[in-house]
Amino acid sequence: MKINRFKKSQKILSFFTTNFQYHEPYQVLIDATFCQAALQNKVIIEEQLKKYFQSELKLLTTQCVILEAESLGGPLTGATMIVKRFYVHKCGHEGKPISASECIKSMTKSSRYIVATQDRTLQQKLRKVPGRALLYLHKATPVLEGPSDASKKYVNKHKNDLPENIEKRIDNLKKTAGIPSADDDTSKVKKKKGPKNPNPLSCKKKKPRANAETKESLNKVTPTINKPKRKRIKIASHVKEVLKKNIKS
Ligand SMILES: [Zn+2]
Repeated sequence: MKINRFKKSQKILSFFTTNFQYHEPYQVLIDATFCQAALQNKVIIEEQLKKYFQSELKLLTTQCVILEAESLGGPLTGATMIVKRFYVHKCGHEGKPISASECIKSMTKSSRYIVATQDRTLQQKLRKVPGRALLYLHKATPVLEGPSDASKKYVNKHKNDLPENIEKRIDNLKKTAGIPSADDDTSKVKKKKGPKNPNPLSCKKKKPRANAETKESLNKVTPTINKPKRKRIKIASHVKEVLKKNIKS
């Protein structure tokens, strides 16, 4: 596959992943018209789609698609055999099958499917709904159709009120790309270099020492103990004698 074609398909795919929460493994919902075109162009669907998307894929169909193809018989026998190979996803019409195109339309309401069809009417209907992804075969080449006008309009209208999970995803993408996000204040403040304080959670608690308290309490008491010392006044011996005499008399 040419690189340009791959780049183009990845760009379209990223439009759907960013704006409409498509994600790997991408679910490709296949109908009998797509299988018929694959058969006519000798395309092995699994191989070609793997090459084209180079992503994880889940190839699915529904009971309604199979039943409709079977009912048409004859010209669609080969396509029916092909479509039966894919995983049959529950569509909610078990026991009361509806037309393949109606079934696919109803499926796309609840989940993100890349609809693989050559049915022009179904394509037209899906293009009117924002967020629907279409895949078709151009001769032997799979083509993921660019976002419809409805999808583009929807995105333009809602680009300022991005859902929370998309904002988070953008933040994560920015982080992995090393771009500081708007509400990331830590990125603006330069971290101080040098030794950090140890993590308090990783430190052992200090054992309280038995003496510590008494020592502290002593320290507190000492100021009161430190009374000014009395000065001893030395009295000369002859003075003492005179004093003694005075006391006696
Ligand atoms: Zn159905």
